[in-house]
Amino acid sequence: MKSTLRIVLVGTQHPGNIGSAARAMKTMGLYELHLVRPHKFPHPEATALAAGATDLLDSAVLHESLADAVADCHFVVGTSSRRREVPLPEYLPRQAAEQLLQAGMSGNAALVFGCERTGLENEDLQRCHATVCIPANPEYASLNLAAAVQVLAYEFRMAMLASGTRQETVSISLADPDEAPASHEDMERFFGHLTELMEHVDFHKGRAPEIVTSRLRRLYLRAQMDKREIKILRGLFSDTQRMLRISQKQQTEK
Ligand code: SAH
Repeated sequence: MKSTLRIVLVGTQHPGNIGSAARAMKTMGLYELHLVRPHKFPHPEATALAAGATDLLDSAVLHESLADAVADCHFVVGTSSRRREVPLPEYLPRQAAEQLLQAGMSGNAALVFGCERTGLENEDLQRCHATVCIPANPEYASLNLAAAVQVLAYEFRMAMLASGTRQETVSISLADPDEAPASHEDMERFFGHLTELMEHVDFHKGRAPEIVTSRLRRLYLRAQMDKREIKILRGLFSDTQRMLRISQKQQTEK
């Protein structure tokens, strides 16, 4: 049983963990492994620990950034062993698995893991729609990376079995492509346009833009917009910018 859930490992330090993660994935029927700037890959330790799952290492996709790795995903969940400053919805593994399963039916969904030493950076979490935390022993909550992959892949498999579906056979063919969920790339273009508009209307008035920007990112990511909704909002931004230019021109002509 194959599924479309993408597992993304960011900045993995120990190649053995990449191999063990591949093995954990394959045992749970997951095949799509993406690696963002792994420290050592390919590597004999990765191959040794992958055991019978070296095919996942052979087909692993390498990326320079997390943004690249999830560009075509419309639902991205980041993993963390602790609460972070980034205020995102936080799921338990079972809930996350269900959300990912749902999302995977109409496009690509990704589950993102951080590096062994520091986990995911806040900047990486900004790219996520939600986070998932395995509720481990509060006094020692940090699992080995591949063990965390195993637990979450297991929950995903349970959700898949419970739904009684094979994901690749139920992917909904949407009649209108505009109603497809917005991809990460669409969202980043949308945020770029929003930033431009906010500068245009001098929204920040000299204040630091970071806090309001991260709140707006959270708001719009939570909305899980489709491509048409993005088009409408971007049309509104463009018209606002056009009217501003016209009125600025009229002012200077006066
Ligand atoms: N010192 C790091 C630990 C990183 S462990 C930190 O405090 O974040 C490496 C990776 O394993 C994490 O980035 C996360 O992807 C995963 N992981 C470990 N424990 C986890 C847990 N309890 N819940 C969810 N993911 C976990």
